[in-house]
Amino acid sequence: MLKKIIIARHHGFCMGVKRAINIAEETAANPNGPVTILNEIVHNEAVVNRFREEGVAQAFSVDDVDEGTLIISAHGAAPFVISQAREKGLKVVDATCPLVERIYNIILKVIDNGYHVIHFGDASHDETRGVVGHAPENITVVGTVEELINLPSWTGRKLGLTVQTTAHRDAFAAAEKAAKEKWPHIKVFNTICDATNRLQTAVMDLAPTVDMFLVVGSETSANSKRLAQIADAICGRGILISRAADIQPDWFDEAGGVENVGLSAGASTPEFLVDEVIEKLVEFSGGTAEVIVPERRKQVRKTVNHDK
Ligand code: SF4
Repeated sequence: MLKKIIIARHHGFCMGVKRAINIAEETAANPNGPVTILNEIVHNEAVVNRFREEGVAQAFSVDDVDEGTLIISAHGAAPFVISQAREKGLKVVDATCPLVERIYNIILKVIDNGYHVIHFGDASHDETRGVVGHAPENITVVGTVEELINLPSWTGRKLGLTVQTTAHRDAFAAAEKAAKEKWPHIKVFNTICDATNRLQTAVMDLAPTVDMFLVVGSETSANSKRLAQIADAICGRGILISRAADIQPDWFDEAGGVENVGLSAGASTPEFLVDEVIEKLVEFSGGTAEVIVPERRKQVRKTVNHDK
């Protein structure tokens, strides 16, 4: 019988996501012609759909946008994408997260000093494509430690190591170790962002105390998937759900029953989706489960209610 629903002390929207959504909302509220978001403003269907319903278009290539304003998402974009948009006469509004821009700056600086950069990340992710686009000739992307180990020996070459902002910190620690063994002189820049670190730490702290861990986030959200993987590795049952309707009643009966459920949400997940999941879980418990809310969330709620 489900007894406790424990919310991770850090979960949900990060600074970069909030900022990108605010920028997109402000731009959509004062349009000067059609407004289009390049890729997904953040990787969450609910947020993406809300902008669509408000009349903001979405495109996956500048080729498909002919007029108006183009918003660059929180994940950033390669410089040639922005140049192409400007050459087409589009107004570009850049909502790239400052912590993604930090990677651009680090990379450009070290490359300027003769370095080649190994970037540890998912090559197909929007963020990585934007990073690589800043210096395609001087960056090599690796997605695993094995790929890193199999790179050429690059004897005598100055090398730097950077990482996707939302990478699994243990995976990056392993990559850093392997890189230092292969190239003792490599310069390492841990560019995993603070929000990712906080979200992962909160899951790591809570997961050992629960029977099952739910993470609310989209399949397209790298950081949400990572949180579910971390929880799964610790408590043996970490599940990524996009919304409350994904929860299956039989999950609570398997493996001798689930008494305590941990709950977190990715950096691009709006809080109302977390609220819906809490309601659904309480419903499954017949209304008896205790919801343990972190102090931080209580404070946010208090402020919101007070403002109302
Ligand atoms: S997860 Fe980190 S890098 Fe990505 S938008 Fe949020 S704060 Fe920025």
